[in-house]
This record gives sequence, structure tokens and C-alpha cells, in this order.
Amino acid sequence: MIIVMRDNAREKEIQQVVERIKELGYTPHPSRGAKKMIIGIIGDLNREELIDSLGAYPGIDKLVPILEPYKLAGRSFKDEPSVIEIAEGVAIGGKEILLMAGPCAVESEEQVISTARAVKRAGARVLRGGAFKPRTSPYSFQGLHEEGLKYLKTAADETGLKVITEVMDPRDVELVGRYTDIFQIGARNMQNFYLLKEVGNTDKPVLLKRGLTATYKEFLMAAEYIMSEGNYNVILCERGIRTFEDYTRNTLDLISIPVLKKLSHLPVVIDPSHGTGHWDLVGPASKGAIAMGADGLLIEVHPEPMKALSDGQQSLKFEKYAELVEQLKDIARAVGRDI
Ligand code: PEP
Ligand code: MN
Repeated sequence: MIIVMRDNAREKEIQQVVERIKELGYTPHPSRGAKKMIIGIIGDLNREELIDSLGAYPGIDKLVPILEPYKLAGRSFKDEPSVIEIAEGVAIGGKEILLMAGPCAVESEEQVISTARAVKRAGARVLRGGAFKPRTSPYSFQGLHEEGLKYLKTAADETGLKVITEVMDPRDVELVGRYTDIFQIGARNMQNFYLLKEVGNTDKPVLLKRGLTATYKEFLMAAEYIMSEGNYNVILCERGIRTFEDYTRNTLDLISIPVLKKLSHLPVVIDPSHGTGHWDLVGPASKGAIAMGADGLLIEVHPEPMKALSDGQQSLKFEKYAELVEQLKDIARAVGRDI
């Protein structure tokens, strides 16, 4: 259910409604849009009781039921795109397309610093790099853990970039949160509900990757888990899904961009590296993504892809990344966006 407040509702009237919702045993989710102040009430609702209890409050315009299962992530809750602030002057969901780039895995201090400098020069605002790696084989490189987080933070501080890195375990949220600006939830963990709730209890932006076989509804319900804990700073990331096609690593579902934007107000990022699995397909996929309305790109870049400890085949060299960003600027301009 959504409570739509009157345009001229006073702060005191809004607070009274919020307090009454709490007294009734529900969690209020207030959201101030450009036009209206609304308060979402989610959960197993007694509608009659709510209407009886709230009907007489002066600041309320109307009570509207939310029909979609993704209550907070859906357009009924918020009908304008969410702009999520990562740090001062760095945001996603507005006119500027946010470029995030860096190695698949943090391998050494030198590797991360050189990559950070290169992607910053090219135009990226956020440095990616995994310190906890979800590998298919337990014998593959698993990441440098806290040492890797430290390298990322040092490289980001030196270059003025922000950090995005994956957290795989609810027990690591506090540790990873000390070093990162954005939590990344990997595709394999999209439905790790304890992890979703744990990051939902922080106020840091969360980039949620679509699961390998997740429908849009399941994807948005995973976002809902984070938001229902009170963290509305969720960024959706399409990174390809499993289909019968095995030439590409995954099938990058670009039509997800307009569909997710129709269903939800959350920003949508494309990961063309995992989405294709081939460095030479990253460019075409990125161009398509911008043309279709993506709010950001997450791209793997490595100083020497042939020597990478993971995902070298889909990583761009520094010069290739810089060339690509130049080409993307024209496409962004054509669709009314900036890079
Ligand atoms: C990654 O971005 O490092 C990663 C492991 O991606 P995904 O979860 O999409 O496989
Ligand atoms: Mn990777």
C-alpha cells in the first residue's frame, strides 16, 4: 500500500502518519519524489484496519494498493528514475553514464595502481576489482581478500576513483564496507537472501547482478530484499544469462534495459565483459548498451590480459579501453546522455 501525501502536507503531518504506521506495527518507507511525498507500507497488511486508522489524517491525499510483488523496486512506489549518489559528485541514474572499470581480480598492488591510473585517464569514475572471487573451481585463484581490498582503496585514493568490489559472505559485509564505496553482489549470490539483507542494513549503494537463470521478476524481488531492509540505493546489473548458445560465455540480454526501466525506477548497468566472455565483443556490446539506455558500464581491464589470473580472455588492454570510451561518447550524445 502507498500513502500519497497532499502536495501541501506539512512536515509535522508527515511525521504523524509515519508514527501512526509504526504504532500499527508496520515499517514505513517514506520517499520524497520531485512531485509528491509518498509513504510505502509493506508486509502482510490488514487493509481495513489501515484505512480506518489513517483515513482521518489531514495530510493524506489517498491510499493506493501496490499490485506488483516488487513493492519498493517498482514504478508504483516511485514513478521517476532513481539517481543514486555514490559520493560527492559521483552518481548513477542521471544524465551522466557512470563508467566502472578495472581488473576481474585484484592480483597485486602494482596491477591495481597501473589499471586505476589508466581507466581514470580514459574517463572511468569507479575502480572495479575482486578481492573475494566466486570461482567455479575451488582450486582456482580465490582472491587476495583483505590485502586486495587495501590495494584497491590505495589505488582509488591516489587516483580519486571510487571503489566497487564484491562481497560474497554476510560475515564479510562489515570488512568489505570499510574499503568499498559500492557493494557488488555477484550473479551466483543474487538469491543469497541473508547476504541481501545484510547489505540492506547498510546505507552504501549495492550493485546487484542478475542471476544466471533469473527472470526479471526474480531479479527485482532480489532488489526488493535489499530495499525492504531500508537501503534504497540499489543498482541493477545485467551480466548475461544462461541460454543454449555457448559461443559467448553468457547471452547478454540488452532488452532487459528498457524492460527493467519500465518495471522499476532503479538504475541499470551492463557488464559486457561477463556478458560476452570475449574482449573483442566488449565494444559492440557496450555501444548497444548505451544506445538502449544503460546508466553505466562495468568493464574488465587488465595491464596484461594474457597473464591475468582470471578472465583475461574478456579483459581489455589499457589502450583498447581508452579507444572504446572515446567511441562511446558519440553514442551517449546521440541518446541525450553524457560520458
Ligand atoms: C565479477 O564481476 O567479478 C563477477 C564475478 O561477475 P558475475 O557475478 O557477474 O559472474
Ligand atoms: Mn571476471
